[in-house]
Amino acid sequence: MLKPAVLKHRRTTLERVEKFISEIYFTDCNLRGRLFGASCPLASLSCFETSQRIPYEEAVRQEFRLVKVGDCFGSTWQTCWFKVDLSIPREWTGKEVHLLWESEGEGMIWRDGQPVQGLTREGEKTSYILTDNLKETDPHSLTLYVELACNGLFGAGKGSMIAPPDPDKKFSLQKAELVVFNRDVHELLVDFEILLDMAKLLGEENQRSFQALYTANRMVNLCDVANPSTFAAVHELACSVFGQKNGESQHVIHAMGHCHIDSAWLWPYDETIRKCARSWVTVIRLMEKNPEFTFVCSQAQQFEWVKNWYPGLYSTIQKFAKEGRFIPVGGTWVEMDGNLPSGESMVRQFLQGQRFFQQEFGKLCLEFWLPDTFGYSAQLPQVMNGCGIHRFLTQKLSWNLVNTFPHNTFVWEGIDGSQVLAHFPPADSYGLAGCVEEMLKTVKNNRDRGRVNHSAALFGFGDGGGGPTQKILDRLRRMKDTDGLPRVQMSTPDRLFTALEKEKAQLCTWVGELFLELHNGTYTTHGQIKKGNRECERLLHDVEVLSSFALAQKSSFQYPSAKLQHLWRLLLLNQFHDVLPGSCIQLVAEDAMRYYSGMNLPWPLREASRGPAPHILVVNTLPWKRTEVIPKAGPGGSKTLGANSFLNLPLQVDGSVIMKNGLVRVCLDTLGRVTSLCLMQPERESVPEGCCANQFVIFDDVPLYWDAWDVMDYHLETRKTVAHLLKPLEIIQPGGLRGSVTFSLQISEKSVLTQEVILDAACPHVRFQTQVRYACNLLWKLFPLLNTPIPVYVL
Ligand SMILES: [Zn+2]
Repeated sequence: MLKPAVLKHRRTTLERVEKFISEIYFTDCNLRGRLFGASCPLASLSCFETSQRIPYEEAVRQEFRLVKVGDCFGSTWQTCWFKVDLSIPREWTGKEVHLLWESEGEGMIWRDGQPVQGLTREGEKTSYILTDNLKETDPHSLTLYVELACNGLFGAGKGSMIAPPDPDKKFSLQKAELVVFNRDVHELLVDFEILLDMAKLLGEENQRSFQALYTANRMVNLCDVANPSTFAAVHELACSVFGQKNGESQHVIHAMGHCHIDSAWLWPYDETIRKCARSWVTVIRLMEKNPEFTFVCSQAQQFEWVKNWYPGLYSTIQKFAKEGRFIPVGGTWVEMDGNLPSGESMVRQFLQGQRFFQQEFGKLCLEFWLPDTFGYSAQLPQVMNGCGIHRFLTQKLSWNLVNTFPHNTFVWEGIDGSQVLAHFPPADSYGLAGCVEEMLKTVKNNRDRGRVNHSAALFGFGDGGGGPTQKILDRLRRMKDTDGLPRVQMSTPDRLFTALEKEKAQLCTWVGELFLELHNGTYTTHGQIKKGNRECERLLHDVEVLSSFALAQKSSFQYPSAKLQHLWRLLLLNQFHDVLPGSCIQLVAEDAMRYYSGMNLPWPLREASRGPAPHILVVNTLPWKRTEVIPKAGPGGSKTLGANSFLNLPLQVDGSVIMKNGLVRVCLDTLGRVTSLCLMQPERESVPEGCCANQFVIFDDVPLYWDAWDVMDYHLETRKTVAHLLKPLEIIQPGGLRGSVTFSLQISEKSVLTQEVILDAACPHVRFQTQVRYACNLLWKLFPLLNTPIPVYVL
């Protein structure tokens, strides 16, 4: 019998469907409330806490004490090992059975001595599938272990995510039980969610919006939540919409699973090792259940960590890598900073990374993968080309504060004309949830959609790990080819870039640096890390040069290849994009400094100088001629090599100083400011008239968002000159091979600056050695910026 049609009001119909799947409203009678069936408590739960990150074998030998759901554990950075004894009820035969675990902190489930799945509430992983169809012959009693790290996906910031960690934070266990999981209800919930989003987001002007809404409404009519036999027909209705295909012109989105794991940031390096294992083992579980699922993964260092600490998991990863589903990308040792490392370091990032990928996975990476780094040097295209890479992916420039970058797909040209094909995923994220909204944004936000018809969508929780979930995959599956939505296909970087390369002739070219209009404060934050990086870059370079000389002279010399590789890898690790820029917590900065100090032993020199009599060896390790004064440490204190006097420093009656060495002349006024810096032959002044260099100034430093990361342009409006002379100019070394002058300035009540200005004979440069005792205003917690602008003529 034909039922009479009824009027449908758009808003009430939308809300009716929303309430049917709501997590908050009507859960006693809606579909969401049926996601889980029967439940039963654990047979027993006990715990052992430790401040160390210890292996499984050691942990399970410890003494465990009984605990219960609702208890608190920790504090921050501790680890709680839980012994979970469970007994599945016999009457659950034929059901899908999960262990439901909701706690703060990040967990790893161990089963039969192997890591099997990560648990994190923030990453929507609170359920471990014990069986998807319980059989009578299956073991019903088993023991699992949960290794719970007392830190969240984003560390343990006190008050806000990027605040320093709260050392006293406690971590609670809210739920630990066995449940029956109704897979058919889950599938229907995803059906409804996608249809609802289509109805809402495609808009009233779009026919498909109404088709999706009316179908969802019919599904609610048909679905009897208390009678699962109605579910199949409801699902069929949804499939009738998802099965209607697009025309050929529809945009293609290359979806790839991803899990951005900062190698250290709001947590230390050691925790990252466990983050990798938790995230990647979960990816493997998803791969076993979803044959189409692909996952891209960068940073050779993280692979090496997992290889060393989780060999069983690593061999499974290698198996899926061979199938082309777990896909190493990037080609570098870590996702490094894109501006601060030297050219040599940039090359070494690729050398160490590509070598590792070649050795472990049998192939080199074809794409450079740097989605989260704060800007990209114009040198990089040349370095990439030299390392066999012609493709580049990032999304960070979407963080620009003022200007919107004009392209998503373009040719990026470096300083020497080298070119790479660059792609910025248009959803402006590397951690998508696979929602309709993100896929529509990927098309709408694509600024090159007239030129190319392909783009990337990277899905999965990230920054602190986590990765994709089953629900994300289920969402994407429904958008594979559904009329009205972009075609969302599971893909690989190679497939994406191959498709883009076909349209290369249409693309615009961007020449030079990719500058990020944010986070420029990271060029000064944690100056000790920058200094350590540069010193170790120089040291490792010099060691290689000297070792090469030694080998050339004596063929039996043992070139320290293994040791150099180890040290280079440590240095490259510290160039990670939250470590070298200084955007990490103090714990990470301490690790970084420890790695630098371990490197800072002049061991090859020491070994070379082993012998009956001490020798002095002067070697220029740079590829150009240098004339410099070299200090020599001797029993009578510091001496200089050579004896000729070239230099003298007259102190003027007004307290100023003129320094001259025949090449340059420097005039310092009574406050130590450089009023003149002149090249003598031909005479050329560098400091503009009326200006002075080496003048110290302070600025307010209150950014909009990220304190240690950002210096905003408006700080320039708060300039205050430091002009309180504490100690007047005094000549320390009056001449000969070296002349120097020192003075002190009072910056504030407790902050003092002392500087030594040094001019050497025969050297066309002046050196400034500055020591600052810098105390903040504790009352206001203000850390003003101290700066010394140097205005110069540049020809
Ligand atoms: Zn990052």
